[in-house]
Amino acid sequence: MESLRERIKQPHVVVFPYAAQGHMNPLMEFAKRLVCRNLHVTFVTTERAREQMIQSQDGVPAHVTNALQDIRIETISEGVSSDCEEIKDVDMRFDLLKKVGGLTFEGVIERLNSQGHTVSCIVYDAVLNWVPDIANKFNVPSAFFWTQSCAVYSIYYHFYTGMVKAKDETETVIDVMEIPGLPKLCQSDIPSFLQPSNPYEPLLRLVMNQFSTISQATWILGNSFSELEMAEVKAMDSFIPIRTVGPLLPSAFLDGNDPQDQDVSTHLCKAENCIDWLNTKEASSVVYISFGSLPILSKAQIIEIALGLKASGHCFLWVLRLDLNKEENNTLHDFLEGFLEETIDQGLVVSWCRQMTVLNHPSVGMFITHCGWNSTLESLISGLPILTIPHWSDQTTNSKYIEEVWKTGIRLNKTEHGLVGRDEVEKSIKTVMESEEGVDLRKNALQWKILAKQAMVKGGSSDKNIDGFIDEIIARKVVSRHNY
Ligand code: UDP
Repeated sequence: MESLRERIKQPHVVVFPYAAQGHMNPLMEFAKRLVCRNLHVTFVTTERAREQMIQSQDGVPAHVTNALQDIRIETISEGVSSDCEEIKDVDMRFDLLKKVGGLTFEGVIERLNSQGHTVSCIVYDAVLNWVPDIANKFNVPSAFFWTQSCAVYSIYYHFYTGMVKAKDETETVIDVMEIPGLPKLCQSDIPSFLQPSNPYEPLLRLVMNQFSTISQATWILGNSFSELEMAEVKAMDSFIPIRTVGPLLPSAFLDGNDPQDQDVSTHLCKAENCIDWLNTKEASSVVYISFGSLPILSKAQIIEIALGLKASGHCFLWVLRLDLNKEENNTLHDFLEGFLEETIDQGLVVSWCRQMTVLNHPSVGMFITHCGWNSTLESLISGLPILTIPHWSDQTTNSKYIEEVWKTGIRLNKTEHGLVGRDEVEKSIKTVMESEEGVDLRKNALQWKILAKQAMVKGGSSDKNIDGFIDEIIARKVVSRHNY
């Protein structure tokens, strides 16, 4: 019998991420999943991000970009010309994005509709909390898309509603916080923006504001899988249920339906070729180290890590991104030059790589990460043991889960100056690469890899949630399930 989906003209979904690497990657992967199910998809990003994507693809083998062919890409303006520097002030940047970006986004929807590509649903990044108003104007349902873990979704929600606080009425810091479905959390486990010591007030406002228009969204989708965060997802069913549709990563690493889909398609930087170098290394012998898309390391921290890597004696591949605006990094030049010379047979330092390809290369044996949510999922899907050096935002919570809940990694200790010292780096690498403890971490990671794949194959938990989402768009029978 013909399914409902086959009988009805396929819907057209607009997918709209915030234009940062950690947001664009999962939303583009989601777009690919919709296209594979024969939906029409338009991916909207800023002019700047579009240009960066094009530049980064220069010289990329065709198979990497094939999956993109059926996705229409549209751009909006972020209010400043794309050849100007991005505005550093968070409030100003997001205000402008809302004003100018909002207007140009409306223009995109209008044009798509008038060209006969009638929009059926807008999937928007949670930080773009003004999108539901635009969706309402066009009488189109919207889906709130959460790019972090469900545990972090729950924590922010409980703080947003005031059900949980980091300080009591007398302004005393609360040491242990309890949230349904989550392990007990101490201050250093909650996202850094919620901690009383948070110096980034505008970022706290930004994350809290994500919930201000959530009631207008018809669907809440999250990049996780229910087997990974069963209790967290279940507990949120009593508040604002979240549907897990992840892990959103290239098909070749999960369901295998599209073996050519081996890379994220939204790189904003040009990747260097590390594969030839990795091919010369023995199985599971390389320490891969990367701290995501935002340069965060101080000069002192870079030196400690470099010396720790060298002393470990293990081969390493290090994605080192320097913020060249930082004066102190200019003075790193001499140190790095010497370091690279001394470790020429041991390591390779690059400015960007295809991380999923690297993590899945047989020579890679472990991952040192800042615990961005994408990197965390990617490590689990690659079955790798981890050392964590969380910096801010949700990374602190992800690190807690990696160490204590999923048991795939170890958090590195910091000195009183907030640095992870060279001895700690060396000792921890040896623990993971040479000891029984490392073997156990790897075993656990491999178990998560199996469960992640199961979630995304036909009939798996996330696969079913994606199908259900599509069926509901088609049927338009959605009743708002959240009252708060
Ligand atoms: N990434 C990459 N190459 C690199 C470094 C990072 O492809 O050299 C990708 C990584 O695979 C992940 C994303 O960039 O998908 C970073 O997102 P994450 O949430 O881990 O961290 P963020 O950059 O948002 O802090």
